[in-house]
Amino acid sequence: MTGRETGPRPLLNRRLAGFGTTIFAEMSALAARTGAINLGQGFPDTDGPEEVREAAVRALRDGRGNQYPPGPGVPELRTAIAGHQLRHYGLDVDPDTEVLVTAGATEAIAAAMLALLEPGDEVIAFEPYYDSYAACISLAGAQRVPVTLRAPDFRPDLDALRDAVTPRTRLILLNSPHNPTGTVLTREELTAIAELAVERDLLVVTDEVYEHLVFDGEHIPLISLPGMRDRTVSISSAGKTYSFTGWKVGWVTAAPALVAAVRTAKQYLTFVSAGPFQYAIAEALRLPDAYVTGVREELRAGRDLLADGLAEAGFGVYRPQGTYFVTADIAPLGEKDGTAFCLSLPERCGVVAVPNAVFYDDPEAGRTLVRFAFCKRRPVLQEAVDRLRGLRA
Ligand code: PMP
Ligand code: GLN
Repeated sequence: MTGRETGPRPLLNRRLAGFGTTIFAEMSALAARTGAINLGQGFPDTDGPEEVREAAVRALRDGRGNQYPPGPGVPELRTAIAGHQLRHYGLDVDPDTEVLVTAGATEAIAAAMLALLEPGDEVIAFEPYYDSYAACISLAGAQRVPVTLRAPDFRPDLDALRDAVTPRTRLILLNSPHNPTGTVLTREELTAIAELAVERDLLVVTDEVYEHLVFDGEHIPLISLPGMRDRTVSISSAGKTYSFTGWKVGWVTAAPALVAAVRTAKQYLTFVSAGPFQYAIAEALRLPDAYVTGVREELRAGRDLLADGLAEAGFGVYRPQGTYFVTADIAPLGEKDGTAFCLSLPERCGVVAVPNAVFYDDPEAGRTLVRFAFCKRRPVLQEAVDRLRGLRA
């Protein structure tokens, strides 16, 4: 805006200008309209464990959480989250001062950006990035600074990361396992990022919603590395691990001062959410490890089915190390533009995917890449693959 434009002032403020409708809403609407198989938005087509669903019903019936729960989250859930961090990562977290329950990871990310950033601050994130990052950074009046993960392996360029830090950099927003590429950062990569954060006195907000959905490699929380305990805001969510994405139960774990800051913003976004579901997720977090292993193995099979099928159908395939998603290249099919491809795909063969270009500031870097979700039942994935094979016919 130059201030010289004439005509009515836009209704949407400039911080949200250009954000429009999310790609996930757009593509799920396209799937609903056309009846296509929806491998766009990442949600499972099978609900999570019956006992967890029953726990939610019980909480509703017993009147637990039907009125405003405590702002930081119900104590049962905060204790279960602390127990989870100890059991899986050996992290000692105080449930009273170091845990905050949020309306999904989405609210945790928003509250963290609003709490920790001043206008003019810079936030470094690896692109392609999850769509809410750009919007939340913008809402906070800050600037995003992308560092691009490039095919074929989508590893972080640590020199480029180092070069991207300026005196205005406040934080790095890190996502591992990474949506949409499926990259899982290694200990060496995380150590380099941690050393940079310490050297340049940066905060790091880590989005770890796919922490348990790792097929190759291992998930290492950045907060567990030297120097990071007091500068990392660790975010996760029950949606993916427990296949209840609609419940929107997420959380932050961090040092007390960071939790207090994020809680201050969170209070005025939702105050609290998901009362009865908080009790149910407390039970979910205490399920034996075999549950998580089972989910992971089922997803691994889905990944392999979809990745192999896409390769047979003529796509270039980047096999993900984690998450719900496989990124595929349409260039070998003679296609040039992922967005046009995804918009025409339901009509051409009855499948919905998401164009990766929307996750980049530099759309050229993802022009021919598209994302397919494999968190679906195997017959559904098989049918999608059979349909996609028709593209080459
Ligand atoms: N971060 C990433 C990387 C995601 O893919 C998603 C989508 N599930 C979220 C955050 C949002 O998580 P939630 O549904 O818990 O808000
Ligand atoms: N995280 C999901 C995905 O990447 C979508 C969540 C949403 O629709 N906001 O597909």
